[in-house]
Amino acid sequence: MSEERTTVEVPDTIGLPRLLDFYELQTEDHTGIAEFYTNLREGQLTTTQCTACEELHFPPRIVCPSCHSDSLEYVELPDTGELFAFSTVRAGAPLGMEDEVPFVTGIVDLGDVKLSSRIDNTTYEELAIGDSVELSIVEIDGGADHERVFFRFEPTDTGGD
Ligand SMILES: [Zn+2]
Repeated sequence: MSEERTTVEVPDTIGLPRLLDFYELQTEDHTGIAEFYTNLREGQLTTTQCTACEELHFPPRIVCPSCHSDSLEYVELPDTGELFAFSTVRAGAPLGMEDEVPFVTGIVDLGDVKLSSRIDNTTYEELAIGDSVELSIVEIDGGADHERVFFRFEPTDTGGD
């Protein structure tokens, strides 16, 4: 065996792999559900509803999973809902969110659909099933050349503690 060793270098920081950065795909060039992001950028949470069989989907679709029609329209979802379930992430956070632990994730019941979401501005200990939560649209920083957004929820401001 040679005495000479090869040196390898590791980076000080590791950028988010593009493959894992789903949020870059928010324009019509990248995704068939660009309208969802456009609406979200304008402050409205929406999803698709099938005009053939009336099925409401979440997440939004490009083809109805129920009847396979591609005749879908975007409909508004309420911006408040009830906490259906929740948990807290203390370790093993997704890449890019490691510095944010602990944080709360939950399932929000919007009436016609339930969706999973980060629950911001609270802690696990402060929450209870059935709590009222409201939409909070966050901007995502990153390498993309267009404004990117995503939805989260947070406890409804009741005007006092
Ligand atoms: Zn359908």
